[in-house]
Amino acid sequence: MAKQYDVIVVGGGNAAYCAALAAREKGASVLMLEAAPDEESGGNSRFTAGAMRVVYNGVDDIKTLVPDLSQAEIDTTDFGTYTQDQFFDDMARVTQFRTDPNLCELLVTRSFDALNWMRQKGIRFVPIYGRQAFKIDGRFKFWGGLTVEAYGGGPGMIDSHQRAAVTGDGWLTYFYRPESFAKSWEKIRRFAVEGGKDPDTLLNAAQLPIRVGPSRAAVEAGMMEWLGKEWDYASWSDSTKDSAILGNVDECVAQLKEHLAVGVQKIIFVPYKYEPEQIEVIAKEIIPRLRT
Ligand SMILES: Cc1cc2nc3c(=O)[nH]c(=O)nc-3n(C[C@H](O)[C@H](O)[C@H](O)COP(=O)(O)OP(=O)(O)OC[C@H]3O[C@@H](n4cnc5c(N)ncnc54)[C@H](O)[C@@H]3O)c2cc1C
Repeated sequence: MAKQYDVIVVGGGNAAYCAALAAREKGASVLMLEAAPDEESGGNSRFTAGAMRVVYNGVDDIKTLVPDLSQAEIDTTDFGTYTQDQFFDDMARVTQFRTDPNLCELLVTRSFDALNWMRQKGIRFVPIYGRQAFKIDGRFKFWGGLTVEAYGGGPGMIDSHQRAAVTGDGWLTYFYRPESFAKSWEKIRRFAVEGGKDPDTLLNAAQLPIRVGPSRAAVEAGMMEWLGKEWDYASWSDSTKDSAILGNVDECVAQLKEHLAVGVQKIIFVPYKYEPEQIEVIAKEIIPRLRT
């Protein structure tokens, strides 16, 4: 007999996952139908930075969304506020007052609850130090009301959703060197065994910055500047810009193979400034050689 579902969700982006998780929370059985194949799933959500506009009234609200915020970060950061009034003003301004009043009210007044709910579902948020804060006299000052993003950006958000939604858990690293990945993967597998789960059912993915060019010397300085300026490295994590894959195609392939050798199953590339030429060379010259 055909299986019956209470709720069918069409799609596999942020909206779909939130709908599916909310339905599951209410005890409904849910079927998700995603048109894209696994490796391309997640729609536009996968391509975002995962940045989310949310009402907050000071550092305490940010701490609720980012419980692992360190004291050093708190001491050196002015998060300011993004009040309901500011959010309403921005909505009116950017839409020239054509926003739907009811939906806008829901969006603004429930934004904090929505992100907090997502956090409880397993989505981690981090402050966007790299793009939304200026360092003034030794202190970071946030601007623009856009203060947090999903850890790992869009791919991280979708992967966290997937982790929360499927039974086979997994592990996503952000800018880890092979030895850090190996250490943490060993830990995850051990936890699985301790929890009575077959570790071979676990999946993993490593996000790695990459810049391909004529030689390491030719690309290194620019890449390090970009990674220092636009990316964050949490003090509690092993993520580092030294994880960057740099050099000509042969050198990049060799560095990436070190990751595969320690058990990385999927690599999420973070190409230098998302330049189309970088994406082209990764797709055409690097990925085929990793598959052989
Ligand atoms: C480059 C870029 C950066 C962005 N950055 C941000 C950001 O930082 N913060 C932010 O808030 N927003 C950002 N946005 C906007 C954001 O991507 C969208 O608002 C958001 O992803 C919409 O989510 P969604 O779940 O509605 O749609 P999507 O994420 O696009 O999901 C749609 C899903 O439906 C599936 N689908 C489509 N047709 C069918 C079908 N017929 N049958 C089954 N499945 C189907 C798709 O495969 C996909 O999984 C960005 C957008 C882009 C393109």
